Amino acid sequence: MKKLLSLLLVILLAISLVGCNTPVNSENGKKEAPKEETKIKDGVYEGTGLGKGGEIKVSVNIKGDAITEIKTLSHNETSGFDTAIDTLAEKMISLNSTDVDIVSGCTLTSKGFTEAVNAALTSAGATADMLKKTDSGQKNEAKKDIVESHDIVIIGAGGAGLTAAIEAKAAGADVIVLEKMPMAGGNTLISGAEYAAANNWIQKKEGIEDSAELHIQDTLKGGDNLAKEELVRIMAENALAGAEWLRDEVGVIWEDELMFFGGHSVKRSLIPLGASGREIITKLAAKAEKMDIPVLLNTKATSLITDSNGKVVGVKAEGEDANYTFNTSKAVIIASGGFGSNVEMRVKYNPDIDGSILSTNTTGSTGDGIVMAEDIGANLLGMEYIQTYPICDPLTGTLLYYDDARLYGHTVIVNKEGKRFVEELGRRDVMSMAIKAQTGSVCYELLDQNGFVASKLQENHGPELDYLYRNDLLVKADTLDKAAEFFGIDAAELKSTVDKYNSYVEEGKDPEFNKRSLPSKVEVGPFYILKAAPAVHHTMGGIEINENAQVLNKDGKIIEGLYAAGEVTGGIQGSNRLGSNALADITVFGRIAGQNAAK
Ligand code: ADP
Repeated sequence: MKKLLSLLLVILLAISLVGCNTPVNSENGKKEAPKEETKIKDGVYEGTGLGKGGEIKVSVNIKGDAITEIKTLSHNETSGFDTAIDTLAEKMISLNSTDVDIVSGCTLTSKGFTEAVNAALTSAGATADMLKKTDSGQKNEAKKDIVESHDIVIIGAGGAGLTAAIEAKAAGADVIVLEKMPMAGGNTLISGAEYAAANNWIQKKEGIEDSAELHIQDTLKGGDNLAKEELVRIMAENALAGAEWLRDEVGVIWEDELMFFGGHSVKRSLIPLGASGREIITKLAAKAEKMDIPVLLNTKATSLITDSNGKVVGVKAEGEDANYTFNTSKAVIIASGGFGSNVEMRVKYNPDIDGSILSTNTTGSTGDGIVMAEDIGANLLGMEYIQTYPICDPLTGTLLYYDDARLYGHTVIVNKEGKRFVEELGRRDVMSMAIKAQTGSVCYELLDQNGFVASKLQENHGPELDYLYRNDLLVKADTLDKAAEFFGIDAAELKSTVDKYNSYVEEGKDPEFNKRSLPSKVEVGPFYILKAAPAVHHTMGGIEINENAQVLNKDGKIIEGLYAAGEVTGGIQGSNRLGSNALADITVFGRIAGQNAAK
């Protein structure tokens, strides 16, 4: 009916336009100056579209067939992704068109926002092609060349880059951060951002015995003893200080409980507020802003500049309107993340991880820093070690926060046949490969109402739950039978699996898969089942650094003026990173890189 009405409006509008000739003043018979004809009635119109987090609602102001203003009335997109909305609104107004490129890394948000603006036009009885054609913003003006000098340039505004920037500035250096995406955050923003720190304050409260040494041994073992032990040692021994720094200096709020990640011997992982990297990035970015650290968005570093001795003395970068040469008097810090989104690079180093495997990473994770460093002689380590994450959206590859429930220990993972097939708290690579071997290369994660509440899924990740329900990836049903039926899982087998699992919880021991934490039975409805698949999550390989975060060349010598920190580095996580070690890694080495570069 709505569609019919708007079609009618379009037709009526078209008829009225056909009848329009230059008006004649009937009193004096003289022709009036022609009024500008418009195809769309001036006014403010509302429309909605579907983004990643649900409905995006906008109001669009139309005047003289031009979009003069777009207001976002409501949305539920992840913080950081809302910058995509501002970018799109700006472009739509300057081009007077809704046919603008999606903001890379924010596909679903971009699509939802564009849909909302188009819907507003429809409610005006108009279509996007009725907007006045304009060439503003289309002009291909020659880019300016800008040369700047700073003590330190940091490539990448994710967790490691912002941390390094804050520490370098605190040490008195003049710092600038380059970020190629339209927003800061990188993979850190979209991660759960749990943080492994031995001897932390919550462990003390809960009476959990731990030590940096145990954390080191877990990390080495988890990475098949392929990590550089001296770097693992630095990470584990400084992890707690890093978490306290985030808490006390940056203002990060840690939840009052811990998560138990696969491969760790004890529960040692701190959880940021809302169990999301939002808390880390929002606070780091706010701190950087308060310290007047410029973060240049949409500015992609393309190469490193070296002097005749091979010392790094700057960076070349491309912005939207300018090409930059940044000269550095102290150092360049590469913090540009991994290469999980670069299929070509993945296949170059590990042919098994081809394009058929989705990725949890942001589109910015293309390994630029690794390529730039290698171009000037840096050594790379462990490039073939690419980690998949077991519980991701089978449609997009996005990491699902729903998986918190597993990390709290509450879920049972089964296959389509209703059977368990892997330890739910096992290593990510082991779980991923086990899931890939099941029917349809997917798994089903079962949770009961008690586990659902205890995992704070509704509280922390409501918009994601809405998305999962909408896309038939999650079901909530009163009985196990109904939940199983939704996905065509063998219900009788599922029930017998659950009975067995519950008896293991009672005994406190899982003789089948040795699940290391058995906090709760699956017994109270409603029941929830999530369908999930593995996706590329973390690239363990990258630039070789020493304990000071200085980049090493192929002969093991320091490349002067160059530091690296975060996922862009190799050798710290061996062949496989344990969950919640990344935040410790990026914070510890981000701080070290910033402090040392400023010297
Ligand atoms: P880490 O966890 O190591 O900090 P992230 O993925 O969180 O890594 O952050 C890396 C950041 O670097 C991302 O925001 C990404 O967009 C950015 N980046 C990647 N390549 C470049 C580049 N060539 N120039 C500027 N920024 C880059």
